[in-house]
Amino acid sequence: MSVIDTDSYSRRLRDRAVDLDGRRLLVSDLRGSAQENDLSEPVNCGGYGRIRHFTRATGTGWPDNPLPIDPAAAALGLPPGADGIRAQVFQNAACNWRCWWCFVPYGLLSANPARSAMRTADELVDAYLAIPGRPPVLDLSGGQPDLVPEWVSWTLRSLDERGVSDVYVWSDDNLSTDYFFTHLPPGEQHYLATHPRYGRVACFKGFDTESFAFNTTAGPELFDRQFTLFARLLTTGMDLYGYATFTTPSAGGIAAKMRAFTDRLQRIAEHLPLRVVPLEIQVWGPVAPRMRADRHASLGLQQEAIAAWRDELTRRFAPADLAAPITRPWPSLPRFR
Ligand code: SF4
Repeated sequence: MSVIDTDSYSRRLRDRAVDLDGRRLLVSDLRGSAQENDLSEPVNCGGYGRIRHFTRATGTGWPDNPLPIDPAAAALGLPPGADGIRAQVFQNAACNWRCWWCFVPYGLLSANPARSAMRTADELVDAYLAIPGRPPVLDLSGGQPDLVPEWVSWTLRSLDERGVSDVYVWSDDNLSTDYFFTHLPPGEQHYLATHPRYGRVACFKGFDTESFAFNTTAGPELFDRQFTLFARLLTTGMDLYGYATFTTPSAGGIAAKMRAFTDRLQRIAEHLPLRVVPLEIQVWGPVAPRMRADRHASLGLQQEAIAAWRDELTRRFAPADLAAPITRPWPSLPRFR
């Protein structure tokens, strides 16, 4: 696969993935997809939704993942420290990158009308609200949701207009586009950034230019853009968190590269590493056919990388800080709400 021209492809995908006049977006049809086999519950909402069980516990050597468990609990007034939380997931049918370890089949990322359908946010919210025992979290995933930043805004307004206040909306961002800023009017940006029941997680897809390009098929120069976009989102005051993935093709210099990565996070905000959760890459169903020797090897190298990450955090933060909830307000981070 050749290097993706991210900006050009993003524009083309957006053109196909949103109908602004109809306030609709392209949502993936999960029925019959390779992803369906990985699900623990049948697809729902006519085939366009699924239930996800987010769990705090992770693999050996990897830190717990409190996302979105703790932010949702804080926003909804639920008891803190739960082991997990259920979420209703919808996936927009477009992504501008092709991470080899993506658990979504590539066919559900190309705005393909044969594998998706246009839906309004109101229709998706209605389908979600009709689920018996509906989950407390509504996860707007992808794909790259920021290709259609209106989706989050439409969804929050739909819930607010219905007087629904027991739902936490969570959305993903691959830190590739600035469409939140360029396609949403300032009033909508402010509405999202200050909404008491909205949180966003943005994913750093590597810890240096080489691992980033290896993981995403994007140009290595876009690694830097990830930091710029994260910093810009943070200035809005949004309840913002980070993921990071550490698969890399190179065994050399991992400790030094991780030190530089952590330095860059701290140049955005001193306590930002405490809001970033590394994710262990695993081989889900759609990933197996994409495996090559270097990708197999990178699964082992991510174990060295996570050890280096933990060393960095231990050197930089006190044990009490490392044990603090991820939702804790830090002096170096903008105050949410
Ligand atoms: S950015 Fe996200 S949705 Fe897109 S290919 Fe990577 S993991 Fe998949």
